[in-house]
Amino acid sequence: MKKNRILLLIVAMLSGTIFIFNACNSHEEHATHWDYKGENGPASWAKISGDYAACDDGHQSPIDLTVDVVDTLLPALILNYEMLTNLPMLNNGHTVQINYASGSWLNIGDSAYQLVQFHFHTPSEHTIAGKSYPLEIHLVHKSLAGNLAVIGVMFEEGQENALLQAFWDALPKEADKTVEKAVSFNAFNMLPADLAYYTYDGSLTTPPCSEGVRWIVLKTSLGASKAQIDAIHQIMNLNARPVQEKNGRLVKASR
Ligand SMILES: [Zn+2]
Repeated sequence: MKKNRILLLIVAMLSGTIFIFNACNSHEEHATHWDYKGENGPASWAKISGDYAACDDGHQSPIDLTVDVVDTLLPALILNYEMLTNLPMLNNGHTVQINYASGSWLNIGDSAYQLVQFHFHTPSEHTIAGKSYPLEIHLVHKSLAGNLAVIGVMFEEGQENALLQAFWDALPKEADKTVEKAVSFNAFNMLPADLAYYTYDGSLTTPPCSEGVRWIVLKTSLGASKAQIDAIHQIMNLNARPVQEKNGRLVKASR
């Protein structure tokens, strides 16, 4: 048995293709290599693996947020986020992701979702009435039943953002690396005071592109300096999936 395994390993190492395939497999966030450009870019995601078939389905994200309905009865976002004293930041090869300790909640109407992690896209994935932003942050929440709700926040180029700067110098630059930053941080402070939002039903914006995600993109954008935006863009390069067809879905605005 052992001999066979060693033989297999030698064969795998001698074969360039298999070796590259294995190298791509090292990212823990995904089993099969996908990218934002080239032959494994967004147009090919559904073909890369059977697990990614949903990427070609009809209710995908991101989309352009042009309002179809203003619904003043949409519930307000109630956020009860905890203060953290340590931020574990993971560079997973596609984005920098900050895992959030349990105990922080988003309540919307009768639904409750726990904040799991937040991460960055440069430029933005959603556009608002056709407008792209240089940076979009996604705060990923999960209900106890496993349903996802993601809050998107847009950033424009402006003044240096002090809250981001608190951990910006420690962002992990290499893929598959986790860095911990000891800092007092509450993601609530990363959001604008006005929590008016756009909402629609979509998907994860990365493979496996699973649908059934409740998207909430805040209307109010925030500012970050050009140096801050450049710093994260240099780590991740372009990591925004192009906007997808709406296919009859409605974009609602809270007010
Ligand atoms: Zn995202």
